[in-house]
Amino acid sequence: MPRVNGLHHITAISGPPQENADFYAGLLGMRLVKKSVNQDDPTTYHLFYADAEGHPGADLTFFPWAHMAPPRMGHGLAVEVSLEIPTGSIEYWQARLDTSGAPVGAVEQRFGDRVLPVMDPHGMKVALVEPAAPRSRLFTPWEGSQVPADRQVRGLHSARLWEREASLTTAFLTEALGFAHLGTEDGWMRYGFTDVAGGVDIRETPDERRGAWGVGCVHHLAWRVDDDTHELAMRAQVEAAGARPTPVIDRFWFKSVYFKEPGGVLFELATDGPGFAVDEAPEHLGETLVLPPWLERQRAVIESGLPPLRLG
Ligand code: ZN
Repeated sequence: MPRVNGLHHITAISGPPQENADFYAGLLGMRLVKKSVNQDDPTTYHLFYADAEGHPGADLTFFPWAHMAPPRMGHGLAVEVSLEIPTGSIEYWQARLDTSGAPVGAVEQRFGDRVLPVMDPHGMKVALVEPAAPRSRLFTPWEGSQVPADRQVRGLHSARLWEREASLTTAFLTEALGFAHLGTEDGWMRYGFTDVAGGVDIRETPDERRGAWGVGCVHHLAWRVDDDTHELAMRAQVEAAGARPTPVIDRFWFKSVYFKEPGGVLFELATDGPGFAVDEAPEHLGETLVLPPWLERQRAVIESGLPPLRLG
């Protein structure tokens, strides 16, 4: 049975773009690998942070919809994003985040990993995870980062989901997407893969209300597929499991299919290629506003409507 290959990217909703860039590119030292616009709402940036090359699995992206209200936390939402940091780097990160004044929590143990929780400037929970047994992943350090190469964020580790009826979601993860149950601890069920990075932790929250999107919450989770053939096979499997996938949508840097899992969290399938270097030289990723070809004619209008964004 075909399966997905862990996380491809996570997209979240942020407040003002400059504060978002100051936190993820500045404090966390990730590379802004693509500066574009929301393809369905070109008055809003779409900002992509990742490792130096923007590998699948490294990419955290944001729609800065600053006018939105805060989220209504509840079931059917991803409530935290975890980023992987190198073994032995948690003290470095604790000191760096403390010095910056970011609201950082105490170090926790989760599934044998050391975890440092912090909140981003718009209220999104982020956890830096030092895995006891790191999974294989592609990573290229970013030499333009304020963070030394051996301390840099390696990529996406996981996300935490609240679900009203967890069994519906866990059955879908295993049967439609090929996840494995990796363990249960403190009420969190971990699903992922033993060979590739990027999974989910699920908590059943039957007493919570239905969650709703807002500034400071996750918009969707995207899962890696190799290519078009793999994507269509996974799409068929998702449809057979009762979900309603969209047709394949060309997002230019990858091809996407969207659907809601049974608990209501928005998922995406995204191809590994062609990647972020398809329309910019690898050494200049993220430096200029990149538009899909059908929006190029409106570039002047789009650029004049976007706030300036400074890096570094
Ligand atoms: Zn996406």
